[in-house]
Amino acid sequence: MTDTPHYGFDTLQVHAGARPDPATGARQVPIYQTTAYVFRDADHAAALFNLQEVGYIYSRLTNPTVAALQERIATLEGGAGAVCCSSGHAAQIMALFPLMAPGRNIVASSRLYGGTVTQFSQTIKRFGWSAKFVDFDDHDAVAAAIDDDTRAVFCEAIANPGGHITDLDAISAITDAAGIPLIVDNTSATPYLCRPIEHGATLVVHSTTKYLTGNGTVTGGCVVDSGKFDWAANDKFPSLSAPEPAYHGLKFAETFGPLAFTFHGIAIGLRDLGMTMNPQAAHYTLMGIETLSLRMDRHVQNAMTIAKWLENDPRVDYVTYAGLDSSPYAKLVPKICPKGAGALFTIAVKGGYDACVKLVDSLEIFSHVANLGDTRSLIIHSASTTHRQLTPEQQIAAGAGPNIVRLSIGIEDAKDLIADLDQALAKAVS
Ligand SMILES: *Cc1c(COP(=O)(O)O)cnc(C)c1O
Repeated sequence: MTDTPHYGFDTLQVHAGARPDPATGARQVPIYQTTAYVFRDADHAAALFNLQEVGYIYSRLTNPTVAALQERIATLEGGAGAVCCSSGHAAQIMALFPLMAPGRNIVASSRLYGGTVTQFSQTIKRFGWSAKFVDFDDHDAVAAAIDDDTRAVFCEAIANPGGHITDLDAISAITDAAGIPLIVDNTSATPYLCRPIEHGATLVVHSTTKYLTGNGTVTGGCVVDSGKFDWAANDKFPSLSAPEPAYHGLKFAETFGPLAFTFHGIAIGLRDLGMTMNPQAAHYTLMGIETLSLRMDRHVQNAMTIAKWLENDPRVDYVTYAGLDSSPYAKLVPKICPKGAGALFTIAVKGGYDACVKLVDSLEIFSHVANLGDTRSLIIHSASTTHRQLTPEQQIAAGAGPNIVRLSIGIEDAKDLIADLDQALAKAVS
């Protein structure tokens, strides 16, 4: 099923990218467990290698099961194309790779998943890239941070761990004025709650590990291209606009138009960086996406019930859930994520670091894990785990101070989750 913008989200999450298997009629997308594909003849092989014909060569680049998932995610996000890869962090590198060069920088939100802060503040330096971290509530500061070497602006729609919402319309107005692509990590929101491309995002990245798969089985990532950015408007993005020596001088932007970024991601990114998603992972994620809207509705409903209960509990100092009327981000919910503010938020526990550690150790239904977006409810004390590599200042800026725990609310019975939190808070906070 392709080119079906008139179908609703619930239909597309089940059908987009999939069609009965042409060889067998298999109704579910088969797991094409193969490394290579037989060429019809030598001319066919040459055309594939020259990018003159689209087809399957080798599963580091393309695989039919992965391709079905790519098309499904691109459709749900309203993008022109998508490239799946081995993890969310791989997707971030895959998104930046065609844009960046030594000496170039990105402007990134200070409220990001802890691993992303580490990737951007430490690891990308080895490529000669750098990141400037800015508070994305301060739009003037975002605009001021963009300089001649800036090649992308990066934020999360609903920021991990605090559940803060980014005003994507305001940020994309800034990136449009600067002629710089806006990359939005939509992991915590999913395309069911937020469609960043409709708010001006150029690229959307996902850790499919989280809500898209939804059941904590496989890691994966995806880069969705809106197809709307003019890479050839100036000479800032030569990987996409200038002749590519590895393909006989082909220019991606000229040859592939709105699919330039996607083709580059496969033909250069996956070919040379090799961060490939395997077909088994794509299968699990396709299974998960079929029920995305059903799960997200329940995640949001449970998160709202539990956040309200926690907000009124004297053992809790504050709750950051943007769905609460008390949140400074509540006014952005109808605009940015009209179906709800997700199911990820933090609470400040009275008693600080020690109480947080006791809380995570006392819970019975909630699991203490470094993951989110599972059907199961999860909790983590970020300061001693995911955000451990950050400086205390970075931890606080990221909403992950020592007195903070992050909750990822699952789809269990809300009353059971509340009872679990109640008994564990009783042990943690005296
Ligand atoms: C988990 C996560 C990532 C990294 O994804 P992996 O699949 O673990 O590599 C990036 N961004 C956000 C918001 C995440 O939650």
